[in-house]
Formats: sequence, structure tokens, C-alpha cells
Amino acid sequence: MLSFKELTKQYGDFYALDHFQSELGSGIYALLGPNGAGKSTLMNILVGLTAPTSGEIRFHGQNTEKLGEEFRARIGYMPQYPGFYPDFTAMELMRYMADMKCIPRKTRDQRCRELLDAVNLTEQRDRKIRTFSGGMRQRLGLAQALLNDPEILVLDEPTAGLDPKERVRFRNMVRRLSEQMTVIFCTHIVSDIETIAKEVILIHHGKLIQQGTIPELVAGMQGKVWEVEPEPNELEALLDQYSRSSLVSRNMQTAIRIVHDTQPHPKAHLCEPVLEDVYLYRFGDDTV
Ligand code: ADP
Ligand code: MG
Repeated sequence: MLSFKELTKQYGDFYALDHFQSELGSGIYALLGPNGAGKSTLMNILVGLTAPTSGEIRFHGQNTEKLGEEFRARIGYMPQYPGFYPDFTAMELMRYMADMKCIPRKTRDQRCRELLDAVNLTEQRDRKIRTFSGGMRQRLGLAQALLNDPEILVLDEPTAGLDPKERVRFRNMVRRLSEQMTVIFCTHIVSDIETIAKEVILIHHGKLIQQGTIPELVAGMQGKVWEVEPEPNELEALLDQYSRSSLVSRNMQTAIRIVHDTQPHPKAHLCEPVLEDVYLYRFGDDTV
């Protein structure tokens, strides 16, 4: 339905996107990569805020730049840094965004109220945004993105600033929405998308690294994920030697989980990989 073809964005000599290629259908697609990978650049091009240097995006086979407003009307966008007006109330912001999206006046207020209700902001409807918590702002960001009943919902790092309970709640909301629309969920946090993504698209240095279902990605890590309970004097050396490693707790003991192609220590044993290991394997050098 949506295809990114050789999409490139240069800032001078720097490639924020480098011949990025991908195909998306329906359901939740996670765009997963570390900070600076090119996720927001890709989404900004998709929603029409930035023009690519070369390449194109096609929607049902048609160039999205040529489709123009016809395509943009089908997208809901929750930006990474929403610039809400702090002196607006939630309802005022919704009305303002509805006008920008040309929602008919007759149905406007009802639609705004319905969406605020759907994200549990009915009680805060007439409160100024400056008094909102991070979680309330994110939910408002989601509500405004849904105003035009989009076919494609773009969420750029939507869980930043949320506490663990709010993250779970947000995730469940997204899962429900994905029954009606394609969702592109940009994040560098594996746990945000681990239980909901139909496919994961790994992006790094502006390039597509790998795309697949979570079982497919995880299967590729078989034989590469190790755990070892080191002697106390070995611990620091192992952590230093293997950049793709993390401390874990096993039977009240400290163990080191190491993602590596070959056995890193004589006592290391193989274990079942998870998506976090894929992330560490692909991006480990950048995350330490
Ligand atoms: P992500 O959203 O994955 O964190 P971004 O798409 O925001 O990554 O950025 C990708 C890279 O492009 C980063 O290295 C960033 O510094 C660079 N970049 C983004 N916007 C600009 C710009 N307007 N000018 C120069 N470099 C930019
Ligand atoms: Mg970003």
C-alpha cells in the first residue's frame, strides 16, 4: 500500500536518509532505530513537511507528492515535538486543528468531544494545555492526529515522557486503533512495540537495515545470544570487551548477557534471543 523507493535526504554532504527502501501494508509497523537514525526525517517526508533530495513515496502505486493534499488528508500525524499552544484549552486546540484539516463546522465540535473522550480527556477538556502532564499532552497529540479519520497514523516517539503505566495505556490505545488504520510507530524503545508490532523496520544511518516480523528478526539471532555468570574479577573486563552486553540478574546472581557471533567466554551458554538482542546486535556500538 505504501512504498518508500530509494528515498534520500541530504543536508550538504550528510545523508539523513540514504536510498531507504521499504513496503508497508496494514497493521502496526515499528520504525525502530537509535537517535539520529533518520526516523523523523522519513516521517517528515511522508507527511509532506520536507521534500526528499531524491527518490519517492508511493501510495497504492501513486506518487505522494503528486497526490498532494489528497494524500495528506489521509494521514494523521503526531509529531515528536508537538508545539501546542500552552494557553489553548484542549478543546480549543482540537477546534483549531479541525479547522486546519477542514473538518466541516457542523460536525466539528462533536468530533472534537468524541476524540477527547476516546483518549480520556473529557474532564480536562476546558483546561489549559500548560497545566497538562506529559501523558495528557501525548493523549491530546493522539486525539488531534485522529481528527481526519486517517488511513495512515504516524506516531513519532509517542511515548517520550510517559511513565510505565501511561506507556501501557498508550500501547493499548494504539493496538485498538490499528484495527482500522495503518500505524507507523517510530521509537528507539524496544518494549514500546515488542508486543504490538506486526513488522519491525530497523533503520540506521538513514538506511533500511532489516524488515520483518518479530519472530523472523529474532530467529536470525539464534546462536548469538549468550549469558555467563562471571567471577567477580572478570565482570568489568567482559563488559569492556563486549560492547553488545548488558547486566542481567539470574537466580539472585549477576550475569552478563552478551550478543556475539561466537562464544565469548568458556562458561557462556546460549539463550533464547528476544527483540532487544536484535537491537543490541544491530545498533550496539551506538548505544554504549
Ligand atoms: P531520528 O528521528 O531517528 O532521531 P532524525 O531524522 O531526526 O533522526 O535525524 C537524522 C539525522 O539527520 C541526524 O543526524 C540529524 O542531526 C540530521 N538532521 C535532521 N534534520 C536536519 C537538518 N535540518 N539539518 C541538518 N541535519 C539534520
Ligand atoms: Mg526523531
